[in-house]
Amino acid sequence: DPSVAPAELLRSPLLEAHDGVGPAEGLPLPRALYGAERPNSAGADPTCLDSRQPLATAIATTRLDPVPLASQADVADAMQRLSQGWAGWNHRPVDERAAVLRRAADALEVRLPEFCGLLVKEAHKTLGDAISEVREAVDFCRYYAQQAQARLQPQELPGPTGERNTLRLHGRGVFVCISPWNFPLAIFTGQVVAALVAGNAVAAKPAEQTPAVAARMVALLHEAGVPADALALLHGPGETTGAALVAHPATAGVCFTGSTAVARTINRALAAKDGPIVPLIAETGGLNAMVVDSTALPEQVVDAVVQSAFRSAGQRCSALRLLCLHEGVADGILAMLRGAMLELRLGDPADWATDVGPVIDDEAFQNLQTQIARLRREAALIGETPLPAGTAVPRLIAPVAFELSSVAELQQELFGPVLHVVRWSGDPAALVAQINALGYGLTFGLQTRIDSRAERLAAQARIGNVYVNRNMIGAVVGVQPFGGEGLSGTGPKAGGPHYLYRFCAEQCVTINT
Ligand code: NAP
Repeated sequence: DPSVAPAELLRSPLLEAHDGVGPAEGLPLPRALYGAERPNSAGADPTCLDSRQPLATAIATTRLDPVPLASQADVADAMQRLSQGWAGWNHRPVDERAAVLRRAADALEVRLPEFCGLLVKEAHKTLGDAISEVREAVDFCRYYAQQAQARLQPQELPGPTGERNTLRLHGRGVFVCISPWNFPLAIFTGQVVAALVAGNAVAAKPAEQTPAVAARMVALLHEAGVPADALALLHGPGETTGAALVAHPATAGVCFTGSTAVARTINRALAAKDGPIVPLIAETGGLNAMVVDSTALPEQVVDAVVQSAFRSAGQRCSALRLLCLHEGVADGILAMLRGAMLELRLGDPADWATDVGPVIDDEAFQNLQTQIARLRREAALIGETPLPAGTAVPRLIAPVAFELSSVAELQQELFGPVLHVVRWSGDPAALVAQINALGYGLTFGLQTRIDSRAERLAAQARIGNVYVNRNMIGAVVGVQPFGGEGLSGTGPKAGGPHYLYRFCAEQCVTINT
């Protein structure tokens, strides 16, 4: 796997995943997985990242320019332009559309430092997370290009009656893509390029917190060859701009990633519309659990828990929220976890030494503070990371862990570095039944050395991504297709072989020869 960093590049044994590695001075970064299609871009451009300096320069010079907010008239104009432009783009051969995505991937790879600068400044990503995210966006472009060419070509079907039957896939029309702030480049890009390569025109609405990353990526896509009338970017609040796009009569499909509550609102709005029935792809939140039995390796458990619960300040949909420890090993693992949490470094996301940076905005900070204060009153504190004394970095939430008395006590996704722990004993199948009953189904961790148990519990879990004896974050495009079920989403899985089909309409042409 070329995206896995050599062990000698790993900086901290606690907080490194395969996709979040800072380079040692002077060493090239591991390239994006689907970069294997072409020579490593490190040789392609002298400004390409081969040390820390280009990143430091990019961060220092990044400016977050204000973006124009779309009025209702702007939404109407854009939808009209896209409706007219769609047919031209849809009729281009799929190979041409795929070539545009590959050009975008090449450009993005070369401009990695610039996009990292934006991610650090606008989304407060740590450097490791920023690099991973750019590489994931590159992978989405190359993977969907490859998948489109492999899967969206016209298919000749059997003609037992002497007729010629051909199945064709084409774009549905104008797809509305609505994305969250927590992966403002990777998720935004993944949605948009999937819809485009399938032959749709796209109206993209990024999260209000991260408009600059989206604006720069859309400009890059246009430079790579996406026509102006096939892709429009509309900034503004979800309740107005997003809702207007969803409600627009020309909307032929919606791809949404964000909270379960907003997915419901969009689903209701689509159901209430007259005209064609509009499909919704929803990728939503999770109450993600990890089950640890008495045979698990404690060091491996603690490493996986720290990465899964606290990396990216817990602001990942896949993040671990509920750790279920077998009572026979709970005390020992909690003692190790407490120690590991003391080692984490909070601080400036632009500093390579930082493990956990700030949360996204003041509202998230206040909400998390309120929830942590509630947990301090209602639950037993297990451990917490000390805040650095006298720090000037705003909105730091210290990783913290609390013990609950039952799985059912966990009712809402706290989108931050807050871990809940329960102890269990008896039949693990009964525990998995309680986890299923939460209704979410995004990620699930299992730590056990009994292979048959891992197989059985994975099969029982109604959960989209199951990770055994490792952390539960950082799904790799094309290798670990990602997405949930139940309250966590509709499918299909992003970065998986079935994703593009849901952006297409199918036509069967039968010719009496
Ligand atoms: P969010 O509040 O649901 O917002 C997501 C997007 O929806 C934003 O662009 C938002 O606009 C827009 N929106 C809000 N109300 C809308 C409406 N009525 N109509 C149309 N669009 C509307 O989620 P978030 O806080 O940005 O992201 C965090 C959530 O996303 C978490 O629950 C996380 O688990 C989930 N997530 C899931 C996945 C996955 O793959 N399953 C991946 C990442 C994140 P604004 O700009 O106004 O907010």
